[in-house]
Amino acid sequence: MKRRLVLLLVLLIAGAILNLAIAWSCAAWVAPASATPVFTSGPLAVGEFEGVTSRRAFGHTRLSRATFRVSADAESTGGIDEWEWHINGREYSETQAGWPLRAWRCRNYGDVERATATSVTTVAKTGLNPIVGGIALTPFSPGPMAATWRALPYVPMWPGGVGNAALYAAALGLLIAGPGWVRRRIRRRRRQCEACGYPIGTSPVCTECGAAVSSG
Ligand SMILES: [Zn+2]
Repeated sequence: MKRRLVLLLVLLIAGAILNLAIAWSCAAWVAPASATPVFTSGPLAVGEFEGVTSRRAFGHTRLSRATFRVSADAESTGGIDEWEWHINGREYSETQAGWPLRAWRCRNYGDVERATATSVTTVAKTGLNPIVGGIALTPFSPGPMAATWRALPYVPMWPGGVGNAALYAAALGLLIAGPGWVRRRIRRRRRQCEACGYPIGTSPVCTECGAAVSSG
């Protein structure tokens, strides 16, 4: 029983390490710019909107969030084509990494993008763009920084992180315990000792290795 608890603990720790390793691999090597930007917006207050641009690549999502004001002209025509960015720290882009669930995140308060079907607008506050909650790396490529900055995130996103770690632990457990379980089933069906494979006679213990023989 104690051995099983130790094994479970080891599996969970291995799952947690894998969760970080896979998330960081995706954050470092899967460029968000490879995914098409999807833009959504919703009202926050009168005349004020929040816009979110999302690029969802494999194991790596890049979000840009910003609030916008709509000019009176644009509002009267029902359009939202004249945005005014708040350059006040309320906008940021965020990396969320992990697979299959997003498990770690970090933010960049300097590089934000707004991408619609017809246009991509980026705001870059050069010199004001510390990565918060992540280790900055060289960008994936030159170009709109909101889609190309690169960092290893270390702020946990709990539901995703716990889910990934449990999934990896279960997969590792199956890899480790699965073959032995199958072998014992086969030996049992062939009326062999589950421990060593020696044919079972009438003795309650294996006459070869001394292991207890399960009946049935
Ligand atoms: Zn045996």
